[in-house]
Amino acid sequence: MNKAVLIDELVLANRILAHEGVLDAFGHVSVRDPDDANAFYLSCSRSPGLVATGDIMRFDLDGKILEGDGKPYLERVIHGAILKARPDVASVVHHHAPSVLPFALVETELRPVFHLGAVAGETVPVWDSQDAFGDTSLLVSDTPMATSLAAELGDRPAVLLKRHGAVCVGRDIAQAVFVSICMRDNAELLAKALALGEPSYLTPGEIAQAAAKHDGGAPVARAWEYWASRVRG
Ligand code: MN
Repeated sequence: MNKAVLIDELVLANRILAHEGVLDAFGHVSVRDPDDANAFYLSCSRSPGLVATGDIMRFDLDGKILEGDGKPYLERVIHGAILKARPDVASVVHHHAPSVLPFALVETELRPVFHLGAVAGETVPVWDSQDAFGDTSLLVSDTPMATSLAAELGDRPAVLLKRHGAVCVGRDIAQAVFVSICMRDNAELLAKALALGEPSYLTPGEIAQAAAKHDGGAPVARAWEYWASRVRG
């Protein structure tokens, strides 16, 4: 994929995630530079629904600006630290989706209750900045915090940030968007189900099979086409 096509896809991912209510005024999505594993593309500090091609900057994995002269996102270190820790990951989404946030506020685990929820993993771990860093602004604004967060993510597709938000990852932009939106749907369904009674969760075997079925390929391409059409109208 050439750079212009990749940047277009990253801009579209910003628009999709904003349109679907995963990103709002805040949050961001990045993609690793396919020509340099130690660099990534990310918008300048702007709300994702407004991001355009000219906003995309290039950073090294420590968050240092390589290209672009905009004001960068403070939390860009999240993307660098995760891309450093996860060679299998090429795209990172950090968001504060209102439907997901309650699971970063209480002890109730965010577990799959419908088949597409499986793509966010059997359980979503919760990283609490308070554990290692005490009182902070909660923003993941330096490399020690971002590295700690990446360690909590481990080899999983998603992690919750206590009292703050979530991070979802994928091997490419479409997969990271897919995980983000399916996790949001699962959180909405689980919260509704919990209000009615004890939900029936997917079994570990169901999670493994459902996640494998939706790990890229035709289902992700079909969803991407649908979400893109909603942005473009
Ligand atoms: Mn944040």
